[in-house]
Amino acid sequence: MADGTVSGRNARGEWRPESTIAPAPINHWPPRPGAVLRWLVGFPGYLWPLNVFWFVVTLVTWTWLTPELTAMKSLEFWWIALLLGRNMALALLLFGGLHLYFFVFERQGEALRFTLKPLATDSGRFLFRHQVRDNMFRTLVSAVPVFTGYEVLTYWGFANGYLGLLDASMGPALFWSWFVVLLVLTPFVHSVHFYFTHRLLHVRPLYRTVHGLHHRNVEIGPWSGLAMHPVEHLIYFSTVGVQWLLALHPVNALFQIQLAIFNAATAHTGFEKLKLGERLAIDGGCHFHYLHHKYFECNYGGSLAALDKLFGTFHDGSTDAHAAMRQRLRALREADA
Ligand SMILES: [Zn+2]
Ligand SMILES: [Zn+2]
Repeated sequence: MADGTVSGRNARGEWRPESTIAPAPINHWPPRPGAVLRWLVGFPGYLWPLNVFWFVVTLVTWTWLTPELTAMKSLEFWWIALLLGRNMALALLLFGGLHLYFFVFERQGEALRFTLKPLATDSGRFLFRHQVRDNMFRTLVSAVPVFTGYEVLTYWGFANGYLGLLDASMGPALFWSWFVVLLVLTPFVHSVHFYFTHRLLHVRPLYRTVHGLHHRNVEIGPWSGLAMHPVEHLIYFSTVGVQWLLALHPVNALFQIQLAIFNAATAHTGFEKLKLGERLAIDGGCHFHYLHHKYFECNYGGSLAALDKLFGTFHDGSTDAHAAMRQRLRALREADA
């Protein structure tokens, strides 16, 4: 959708992808098993390469960067500090790496960037009047301790037998099958949990006191992903609660927590895709979420579990979807008046 200007940008420097956002094939009715299968195992698809790559990061974290479970039976300073330090490094590497790539070294230039507006460097909306510093501060000082806290509770719970209780009663075949099922479902759990909690955060009193802080980021960059109020961090990472109820192994819970971190980074790059050479581009769901930052009242979830489509808040980036959104909001205002 070129808007008829040079390099496909309109007069305000905005750019939209040619193709509209399509919900994942599992949302199609009537079901299309062939398309679902191709999407499940295809490349690029649901699992491969992005979610498999993230799972490898989780496995590395668990195998080499986490103390033995038996050592975490009691809450002790050394291992909690170790996890906190490791998570600080992870956040710096992931969010910092993407920020350097896109905004400092500008490795992709303007290609696939939704807007040419710079991230704010002198704005009263942000701490230190500086968007990136504000976003980094909220990520490192609030988000990292909160998700580390969830991780600490997870290991302590598993080490003491408060979580993962079912494992003693089932054989290894059933145990590992359930492990894999939960792994495959992890992105889906994230998507559903994010939709409903995010929708809740848009209820007026919560939006005013909590979630509005995240929306100060109208233009977004990777560090905006976890630039949230501490209460929102508690809500956002509570998705691990699903694994507390269902998981038999701490890795399932760790993957759920880490996926929430990874997805926050890729959904806020400000670029439609991360181009890896000429042939491969990683789509981390940024276009979907970018529209939410731009218009507020659409795209609360993601394209995986297309609950926005079900509840009438889906914006696929097209002019038609935009007109439908405006009409919906007008009707809401009239009903309010
Ligand atoms: Zn956001
Ligand atoms: Zn929001």
